[in-house]
Parts: sequence; structure tokens; C-alpha cells
Amino acid sequence: MNILVLNCGSSSVKFQIIETDLELIKQNNDKRLARGVIERIGSQALITLQPEGGKQIKKARPLRDHRDAIDFILRWIISPDSQINQIQSLSDIDAVGHRVVHGGEKFSKSVQINMEIISGIEDCIELAPLHNPAGLKGIKAITDLLGMAVPQVAVFDTAFHSTMPDTSYLYGLPYHLYRRYKIRRYGFHGTSHRYISYRYRQEHGLKLKDVNIISVHLGNGCSACSILRGESYDTSMGFTPLEGLLMGTRAGDIDASILEFLYHKEGLSFGEIDTLLNKRSGLLGISGLTNDMRELLEEEAENQDRRAKLAIDIFCKRVRKYIGAYYVDTAGKADAVIFTGGIGENSPVIRERICNGLESIGLKLDKNKNNKTHSRKSGKISTEDSRLSAFVFPTNEELLIARDTLRVVKNVPRRW
Ligand code: ADP
Repeated sequence: MNILVLNCGSSSVKFQIIETDLELIKQNNDKRLARGVIERIGSQALITLQPEGGKQIKKARPLRDHRDAIDFILRWIISPDSQINQIQSLSDIDAVGHRVVHGGEKFSKSVQINMEIISGIEDCIELAPLHNPAGLKGIKAITDLLGMAVPQVAVFDTAFHSTMPDTSYLYGLPYHLYRRYKIRRYGFHGTSHRYISYRYRQEHGLKLKDVNIISVHLGNGCSACSILRGESYDTSMGFTPLEGLLMGTRAGDIDASILEFLYHKEGLSFGEIDTLLNKRSGLLGISGLTNDMRELLEEEAENQDRRAKLAIDIFCKRVRKYIGAYYVDTAGKADAVIFTGGIGENSPVIRERICNGLESIGLKLDKNKNNKTHSRKSGKISTEDSRLSAFVFPTNEELLIARDTLRVVKNVPRRW
């Protein structure tokens, strides 16, 4: 089956076309045919398409909304200009998998989309007002453009964390607020942490119940996840993706009383405080320079910028603190710490700064192996005698979305 995977953001659409079937999954031989992104939807959009093994092509077009954007992608991928030989017409797209950010307590696994599911995703908008509407726009655009005959599947970022026990997901708030409004920790990046769990299992030939790891996804958004017996046991993001680690522009953990203090001192509305915490904090807020880790590392090395160093130090300390907490919380059951995401996959120096101190829980970094593992390479980066191993695996959420889509459409149960 050729599966179109869509990840719709507020003004962008990332997409991939992946060929998969049950035999290809068994052989771990699914094929990506193309990937691309449309940015700046709503004005002069920039569209990038990369056919597998071919040259990247860029175009600029005024695209009003997500429907226009997806219409443009569909027309482009079937044209000879796209160089995607397997896709000659829209009938070559067998199914569409959508990344949907929030599934609330309703969705604990991927589901085929129908009117009832759409209304369930709409119900979750109040939990993710910035994210779920974009996913819904993608679903609606595909229904309009490809018709009801092409099956669509929703894959939720929260679903993997539905196995968390209440001791992990409840806040220390009055219990009736959980009952009344479902205020609880949901966790995000679930598809990425699930992929990491799958990769580790595959690499070591393990049964699902034998996967005990701490997965650390460090990109623009960052989260850690403690995985016990192959299931999410705890994770650092909470009711929204704001909680937990320090991120590119998000503050991560803060004392909630700061909100009221800011409201009085700076005269900010709650909307403005939300923007401050989500868009102007984190690496950007502390450094006053940028949310981009690569640029911060350059500023620190070339200009000895004090606040760039401070932002990086706080970032690394917070990750180390979560790894330590998860290790102890699971009574030392974790066998490995696994790094992924743009920073986790590509930055040996950040991994080294995070792991500096983790010898106390048995993680000994092999500096040589660590330095050689970058540019989306996979590998073990701890020493052979390290009690707690460390690995780098590039994440691949799109692959899991494509496989989930296939399995849901074919009604085949998922084994991981
Ligand atoms: P997103 O969460 O938006 O998918 P990514 O996973 O691509 O983001 O991660 C983006 C982050 O990864 C940026 O902070 C970027 O600077 C960082 N990054 C990418 N390559 C490197 C590198 N070689 N060294 C340090 N940071 C890097």
C-alpha cells in the first residue's frame, strides 16, 4: 500500500509517502518514496519535495489554507515533475495517516477516521487549541480532495502514554478537577517514544515485556519517557506540551504561582503569559539569542557568550535530572537511555554534557563512540562495562504512522 502521511501544524504541513505492507513490515523493508514540507501557509508558501534518491525540488506559491496546500501537494506528487514513479494518479494513494496531537482519554490507539472520530477529535480541541484544529483541517482537506473511499487513520501523540498509571498522570490538585475537566498529565511525542521502544526491541531481539528504557526526545520540543515492559510509565510533558524539560521556546517545569505574579507585575493577560511561556522562554528566553541549539553552541564556542552557555547548561541539567528521577522511580529497572530528536541525534557535545554525572547511576559514556555518532547515525555510545547503556536512534514517527494506517485499514492487530 502507498500511504500518504500528513503532519499538519498551524501554518505548515509535513508529508511523506511510504510504501508498506505486512510482508515489508516483517522484513523491516518499508520504502519511503518521498518526503516534503509546505511552510508559511496563508501567504507566499514555500514547498519542498524530496523524492527518495532524487534531487530536492523547491517551489513558492501563494497558498491560502491547508486545503490549498494539500491540493497542491497532491497535484505535484502525481505529476512527472515530482519524479515519484510509483504515484501516477491519485488512485495510487491507498490510504492517508494523520498525526493528531491530542487524543485526550478517548483515544488510546490509532483509529480509522469517520464522523464519530472527527467529533471525538473536536472534543479534544479544548485540550489542544493550537494543535488539533490543524489536524482536523488536514482530515477535512483529504476528505474533500480524495473522497470518502480513501481510508484515513488518526495516530495520536498522546496514545502511547495511555498506559501511565494514575500515580504518574495525576497532578496534586483537588481530585474533582480531574473528574470534572480531565485535568491530568497526557504526555506527547508518544509516536516518537513508541518508535524508540520498537527500535531498541528490534536491535536487541527482545520481547515487548523486556523493554525497560528511558527515551529522551530532544528537538525543538523536548520530552523524556520512562518505558517499562514496553509501555509508557511516565513522561515529562503534561496536560500540554509545556511541562517538563527546557525546550527551544518553552519554559518546561515552573512554579504555577509565577503566572499570577506576572499577571500583577507585568500587567499581562493570561493569553500573553501563555505566549511568554510557550514561545519566548526556554533556550531563547534564557540566552536572549535563539531557540536553535546549533547556533547557541556556536555562540558559546566562538564568542564565549555567557547566556548561551547558561541556557545550554540549564537544558542539560534538566535532562539529567529527569533521567535520574526516572531511573530511581523505576527502582533501577532501566537498561538503557536512548537519545533521539534533532539535538539528541546530532549533538555529541550535548549528550556528553547531559551524561556528565550519570556515572552515579551506572551510565559510562564512551566518548569516542559518542563523538562518531551524529548526522542521523544509530549506535551504542556507552562503554561495554556500563551498567546502564546509552544509544542514539534517529526517530521515525512517519514510519509508525504509515504502519499503523496499514494495520488499522487491514484490521490487523498491532504487536507493539
Ligand atoms: P522539531 O522538534 O521541530 O522536529 P528537530 O527534531 O529537527 O525539531 O530539532 C531541532 C533542534 O535540533 C534545533 O535546536 C537544532 O539546532 C538542533 N540540531 C540539529 N542539528 C544539530 C547539531 N548538529 N548540533 C546541535 N543541535 C542540532
